[in-house]
Amino acid sequence: MARMCVFCLSDAVEIGGEHIWDAWLNDALPEMLYRAVERPTLDSPAIEYDANRFKMKLPVVCRACNNEWMSALSLKIKDRFSRSMLDGEPFSLGTKDGVILAAFVFMKAALMNQSLPGAFFTRDARERFRTDLILPPFVQCWFTAYEGAARMHTRSQSHIFSPNPGTRLYGLQFFCFNYIVGKLALQLLAVRWKNIPGARSALIMLDAPKNWNLAAPRFWPDPGIFVSWPPPECVGDNMIELFVQRFGAFPY
Ligand SMILES: [Zn+2]
Repeated sequence: MARMCVFCLSDAVEIGGEHIWDAWLNDALPEMLYRAVERPTLDSPAIEYDANRFKMKLPVVCRACNNEWMSALSLKIKDRFSRSMLDGEPFSLGTKDGVILAAFVFMKAALMNQSLPGAFFTRDARERFRTDLILPPFVQCWFTAYEGAARMHTRSQSHIFSPNPGTRLYGLQFFCFNYIVGKLALQLLAVRWKNIPGARSALIMLDAPKNWNLAAPRFWPDPGIFVSWPPPECVGDNMIELFVQRFGAFPY
């Protein structure tokens, strides 16, 4: 039986599908070898290889979603953020572009979530996102500037973590998604109830560790002010792993 599209009731395509890394990157970058790291979850081993094209696709959406609204959203991201991704060009993020960037991260998060057992976001939330690009509540996004040694670095990684029994947040489950394209590193955190009888803490938006405030400002939900990128502090090769994992390491 064909798998259902992540965002609607149609069948997903069986081959091809949505690019994990948008196809325009292939045209924007010079022909050379790039180090690619694939590590779908924190528990899986990292697979590193040299590639000269970004071809990875996930056959999890239908043709119409892929060619219509998803393609339009990716194009907007290319227009507004490609020079920042590739060359580190600074930008100020206002409400309008913040909505677009958050929608893009959520779209990729919902796609990559297919690599984990069970969908984190409800079908209702995903379909609503398709129809009006509205993110579910209690979703937060941050960005940082990644100054790695490599000319180009891409990474897509997600993990789910749950606070321990007896702690304040027991009964909740968090999903953290990291998406790095060149110098722009994006992070999304979402929360839901884990189905544990008797444990039903209120849904909350977890604060990020304070030592990250200067390096990784939050841009979603809309902070109501312009947020500058790159932030006052950048993240290098020695810190990027800590950024990716900063939420799972909390003493909850
Ligand atoms: Zn669809």
